[in-house]
Amino acid sequence: MRRKVALLFGGRSAEHEVSILSAGNVARALDPDRYAVTPIAIDKETGAWRLCPALAAGEAPAMGQDGPLVAFLPGGGGRLAILSDAAALSEPFDVVVPVLHGPNGEDGTVQGALDLAGVPYVGSGVVGSAAAMDKDVAKRLMRDAGLPMIVPFLAATARRPVSYADAAAALESRTLFVKPANMGSSVGVSRVTDPAQFDRAAAHAFGYDEKILIERAVPQAREIECAVLETPEGELRVSPPGEIAPAAAHGFYGYDAKYLDPDGAALLIPAALDAARADRMRELAARAFAALACAGLARVDLFLDPADPAGIFVNEVNTLPGFTAISMYPKLWDAAGLAPPALMDALIAHALARHARAV
Ligand code: ADP
Ligand code: MG
Ligand code: MG
Repeated sequence: MRRKVALLFGGRSAEHEVSILSAGNVARALDPDRYAVTPIAIDKETGAWRLCPALAAGEAPAMGQDGPLVAFLPGGGGRLAILSDAAALSEPFDVVVPVLHGPNGEDGTVQGALDLAGVPYVGSGVVGSAAAMDKDVAKRLMRDAGLPMIVPFLAATARRPVSYADAAAALESRTLFVKPANMGSSVGVSRVTDPAQFDRAAAHAFGYDEKILIERAVPQAREIECAVLETPEGELRVSPPGEIAPAAAHGFYGYDAKYLDPDGAALLIPAALDAARADRMRELAARAFAALACAGLARVDLFLDPADPAGIFVNEVNTLPGFTAISMYPKLWDAAGLAPPALMDALIAHALARHARAV
């Protein structure tokens, strides 16, 4: 029997476009003999959910404006309320695959709606999603769990602003990173070295979130990423680390280097690390995943200070990592022998097992 899969994509987020690219790859990785995939497009401006036609094998979902408005019905056991002229209910879905990046999707909001609906879904629940999305909360939890080497940071809000001079003094660095607390794909992230740049960067980051993070810059940071996958039984598998080498022209791994410039970064799989360091990073990745109460999957991103052999920093945990053609998460598992279709099987098996345990 084919399982009915709802693929949630798009989303009211600055990462809407990335989500569409990810959703195409996820759809292609779902074996059409085993899964009947119905995309649900989430509008970027309004956040409305619209039902799309079921996908043919190999077909990628596209944003459409004309499908009926839909919502998962609280207590509906996976039934969608179809809110056209006369409201109707769909057949229940077996599982939802949220392919949403950033706020309003990766941050626990959609997960809460799916919990209320009583439908299994891939990935972390409300708390894990929200904790990992908020970089301030995430760093506090990781610090509290005794995870070493969190880059020194400050959080600022409109009510509690921070000046460049105070931040530079507190963080003992003139080079700082300024970023929205809740965002991803490097949207709103700047590197600054003076007060004027800092003020511009803070205003820019406040355009995306009411809380921003100011961090000490790790000089020449090497960017190492580990893919974490939870088995249906709750054991964590961590891939060997990969490395992102942004092209020199980009300075750091910003949005352009990630998505707009095809030569913006090289993915090195596996990362060139000695075995002891690679093991240490995998161990830290698993501990970060657990500290943030993540479930199912996450990509844990770390920095390595090339000048300091002990300088390993957990940067962030992404609970719905990119699944685009150039994305690290599926590539790391592919290199470890788990091709995208087997990876999707594993993620769905985890979602179903977790749901069965919870009810
Ligand atoms: P996002 O969730 O948007 O990916 P990140 O915190 O990963 O946010 O920041 C995006 C990129 O900015 C990182 O991949 C890295 O290239 C650079 N960066 C961010 N913070 C620092 C830091 N403290 N030191 C050095 N580079 C950083
Ligand atoms: Mg991120
Ligand atoms: Mg990042």
